[in-house]
Amino acid sequence: MNSMKIDLGLTFDNSYAKELEGFYASCTGAQAPDPELIKLNVSLAASIGLKNTNPEQLAEVFSGSQAPIGASSLAQVYAGHQFGGFSPQLGDGRALLLGEVLDEGGKRVDVQLKGSGRTPFSRGGDGKAVLGAVLREYILSEAMYALNIPTTRALAVVTTGEQIMRTQLLPGAVLTRVASSHIRVGTFQFFSSRGEQDKVKQLADYAIERHYPELKNSPQVYLDFLCAVCDKQAELVARWLLVGFVHGVMNTDNMTISGETIDYGPCAFMDDYDPKAVFSSIDRDGRYSYNNQPILAQWNLARLAETLLPLISDDEEKAVAKATESVTKFWDVYQGYWLTGMREKLGISTAEEGDLALCEQLLESMSGQEVDFSQLFRQLANDLETSNLESKSAEDINLESTSRESDKLFNDAAKFIQWKKLWMARLCRDDQPREKPLSETPSQEKRSLPDRVAMMNAVNPVYIPRNHQVEHAIEAAEQRADYQPFENLLRVLENPYTPQAGAEEYAKSAPTTFGPYTTFCGT
Ligand code: AMP
Ligand code: MG
Repeated sequence: MNSMKIDLGLTFDNSYAKELEGFYASCTGAQAPDPELIKLNVSLAASIGLKNTNPEQLAEVFSGSQAPIGASSLAQVYAGHQFGGFSPQLGDGRALLLGEVLDEGGKRVDVQLKGSGRTPFSRGGDGKAVLGAVLREYILSEAMYALNIPTTRALAVVTTGEQIMRTQLLPGAVLTRVASSHIRVGTFQFFSSRGEQDKVKQLADYAIERHYPELKNSPQVYLDFLCAVCDKQAELVARWLLVGFVHGVMNTDNMTISGETIDYGPCAFMDDYDPKAVFSSIDRDGRYSYNNQPILAQWNLARLAETLLPLISDDEEKAVAKATESVTKFWDVYQGYWLTGMREKLGISTAEEGDLALCEQLLESMSGQEVDFSQLFRQLANDLETSNLESKSAEDINLESTSRESDKLFNDAAKFIQWKKLWMARLCRDDQPREKPLSETPSQEKRSLPDRVAMMNAVNPVYIPRNHQVEHAIEAAEQRADYQPFENLLRVLENPYTPQAGAEEYAKSAPTTFGPYTTFCGT
């Protein structure tokens, strides 16, 4: 890195560097031979106060070649359970935290480079990233953001002008990402596994101050902290499942304390519903398959709980009992979030005891049917809408008069048709006034059909990052330096809930010629 510093106009305030000595190694990025700014996320840049618009200077900074004024760059240390096995020493092997910036709302965010060269934690790796993986993370993380799912965000893509050796030579690139923080379950594990309990406490205090300040004065602050992280992760994973997302590598070093999705490696959205969906080439046993995600999130949270035991109580037995209770509760909390989300997806605005079974029956009817997960929920709303627009409530709809387009998504719709009757009946009951409505301000009026359809369409995306579209965008960029497919895909994904003229292709599932999809880690 050159010594000359560039002014980005960002307000850096590097609390991790200042307050957590011993939790990182100070280092700088490698000099890129020919850095070129490929993409700047203009709205995100504006929201964090980035004022410099000079593409050459941005390319210097976002490749790691030159430091921005105010930065205090470092690589964080962490450990992690990878596919169940504990690695006591990981850390940012190809990431560099430039520092923390206060955004326009005064919120503190990390600005981090990924792929800017070796750090003291690189182990055998080269510290570099390839363009394909960088674009992939850009597309997927920004799609998640547009879907209102907590996530790290993508700020910039820079190509380095270097060719990186993987299975073949590939163009090198650096992603700049923005996150609430990069504190992971694995960060706690690193210090806990070394018996450095004072450091675990220091990290917990820092994380509480930064992410859960409302807990600070609680008499059981560390237990509350554990519960809060469990809650955030329960909501996050529920929301992944509600849009058909498979993270792919939910190791404890890839799980944040803030509750944001992080580390878009071998992740993918499924087209056809498959509870066992796995895309990662290395996940041979399906540890991180679609349906396993809440189970593995809970497993990871148990690992976090273990690191906090001495802080929860001096009495080990008591600490274990309390922590176990919190982690055990995860499942109900998770299911609560999932069910709330499913009700919205199905246009149900009240709560009934049988709702969980109703939702599970739908999934059962979809299993093995090669039915597109995203399209089905949009089609359910379309069917409601087109069946009988004059009718004002679900009560006025009967199955015979209902459009049957959604049936066509199934190989054999028999079970689904049975389910639809239950759903229609449920929608009718949803219209009946009740003592305990879901919302605080109960409406005794019947929900009009257009309202119900609008409610469904507001949560069921038309557009998700389809794997074949993501691959197409990457291929054009890698092979022809053509970034138009990447830009086009990003533009469509910015508004996932609104059908866009001319974007019909982006709502379609992969053609059969695309074949089964496999993704790769650490590329
Ligand atoms: P990931 O699978 O991306 O979560 O990475 C797991 C660990 O490997 C992290 O500590 C990364 O920093 C490290 N890592 C991944 N790729 C590289 C690379 N090319 N060079 C150095 N370290 C890497
Ligand atoms: Mg990682």
